[in-house]
Amino acid sequence: MAIRAEYAREADAVPEFWLTGNEEVEHFLKRTVAKGQLAILAESAGGRPIWAVFYGTPRQGQGTTTYSGSLGLGDVAAYLGPDWRKKVMLIMGGVHASEFEGIVGIVNLIAVLEQGADLRGRPWPKLTQMAAQVDRLILIPIVNVDGRARLPLRMEPYRGTDNLPHQYLTSGAWLDGTNIGWPRCKEFIPLDFTRTEFPGSYSNDAGVNLQHDDFFGRPQPETRALLDLAVQERPDIILNMHTGAPRHNYYMRMLTPFLEEALVPAQKGLYKYVHTGLTLAGLQGSSDPDLEANPERQPPQWPFNLDTALSLHCGALAVTIESPSHSFSGTNQAGKVVRHTPDQLVDAQLIAYQESLRYLVEQGGRSRWAPGKRAKI
Ligand SMILES: [Zn+2]
Repeated sequence: MAIRAEYAREADAVPEFWLTGNEEVEHFLKRTVAKGQLAILAESAGGRPIWAVFYGTPRQGQGTTTYSGSLGLGDVAAYLGPDWRKKVMLIMGGVHASEFEGIVGIVNLIAVLEQGADLRGRPWPKLTQMAAQVDRLILIPIVNVDGRARLPLRMEPYRGTDNLPHQYLTSGAWLDGTNIGWPRCKEFIPLDFTRTEFPGSYSNDAGVNLQHDDFFGRPQPETRALLDLAVQERPDIILNMHTGAPRHNYYMRMLTPFLEEALVPAQKGLYKYVHTGLTLAGLQGSSDPDLEANPERQPPQWPFNLDTALSLHCGALAVTIESPSHSFSGTNQAGKVVRHTPDQLVDAQLIAYQESLRYLVEQGGRSRWAPGKRAKI
């Protein structure tokens, strides 16, 4: 299972704010987290700790019925419990372990919340203000710690428009050396590592891509922990941060999840907020929010994955947001090569969090998106 040496090459200069490895993130959390509560959420299939940071106070008490029951009743508050008005958000990175941008983003968000500035020393007053207005924020920098342990890299070198090395690190290669590739990698879950030169980092040590786990059967310990956390906290929004922006129009993009119908308008609203924020920050393909942030122009609905499973489990508006990569370029609408700097990638992450928090603050939580008896009052 040796990684090919040419693909294990580290970037020449790794910025100080670019923390992505299991050990360095753990070290950062242990020396930084004081306002939040640091905890091990669970152990991975490979026995590694999955770290989470909790801010604010959780919903108190329990509802009187299941989530499904509450939908049948027409009142989600009956599931959310007496604290149904509270606003709760979960942000997680590294479900796919080679997708470093979300890991770096969450680490820098924790720096903002703890120290008032990101790891570049930049304050984010609007982000800080929005975070202070929600009741509960749960952050998981690296979900797939097994996959992350397989990559001996803090940062990939930039390789122009060549994404094959990144693809190798992500979804691996067969014994004959050819990349398994995407979406072919999804044909084999669990992946038999003995058939691979390198299994990539999509999967945990049991070979399972957590984004496509056996959710209703025997989920992996990482997925089980997320499902249990979702019920314990009953978040209004879950952000699942990935790296996989479209190669053409190569900018951060929220995917369109398969959700319960009542949540579809809320997802469109969240899309509009996030993409407006990114556009105004110069991090989309044009400066026109009417174009970039129009939810009617978002990508086609994505099939069933972790977001849908979490949403159907606890009622959260759960979305995947795909970042561009630091390691390769795509093209813009005019066909020109677009390179995103590490700084821009961190900015895009923090703006996506900020605007999602703003959406939750301004547009209310789960109980308002699918009106129930109490929410109408
Ligand atoms: Zn991914």
